[in-house]
Amino acid sequence: MSRIRSMHFAQAIAEKVSIDEKLKKAFEEVDREFFMPKGFSFYTHSLDALPIQAGQWISSPLTVAKMTKALEYNLSNDSVLEIGCGSGYQAAILSKLFRRVFTIERIETLFSEAKNRFKKLDLKNIHIRFGDGINGWKMYAPYDRILFSASCITPPLALLSQLKDGGILVAPIEKNKKQIITRYIKQGKRVISQEIEECFFVPIVEGVQKS
Ligand code: SAH
Repeated sequence: MSRIRSMHFAQAIAEKVSIDEKLKKAFEEVDREFFMPKGFSFYTHSLDALPIQAGQWISSPLTVAKMTKALEYNLSNDSVLEIGCGSGYQAAILSKLFRRVFTIERIETLFSEAKNRFKKLDLKNIHIRFGDGINGWKMYAPYDRILFSASCITPPLALLSQLKDGGILVAPIEKNKKQIITRYIKQGKRVISQEIEECFFVPIVEGVQKS
């Protein structure tokens, strides 16, 4: 994607979702074309979600903007864990805002492709793992932020133990046949939840799928 096209792309996102300069710059820097399914590069600048493979989707850049914003990241944040790597686009955006990104994917083919993309793009601060993200990734816990890129019925409270005190977990929660981006803030033994807005994600699935 040319520099000018990527600037227009980031601007188009900023016109729909109010984002800060840092996030806007991340959208300029990460070439979405790399994350598109083969034969779909024509749609690189579309603001819609698109089907990839294995019945999964690459999120709309507007959704990526909203989810990232909901994390309320700041300069003192060190690490973020994403559940549901898919194409890897969301993780690549996060890699521009956090020192370390950890991401988990349950479908082996998607995992391998995302891993190759991170390598090609030299995104060394992204650590990817093939597995069931429902259990999180204990080895590098606790995280400053946790992001679910697949929807859940109940808040993933088990993962709160892998969140730092004062940390934030964002997840699309299924409620009354809708999905709502929900933010959970861990404060000692208390968890405060805030509903942000409606969204659409594929549901979280237990276990792994080997190719
Ligand atoms: N973040 C992606 C879009 C994710 S789509 C992007 O930017 O393109 C949701 C992804 O979550 C799918 O790839 C799906 O396979 C994955 N997923 C669903 N349940 C999961 C689980 N239990 N553990 C890890 N990944 C899961």
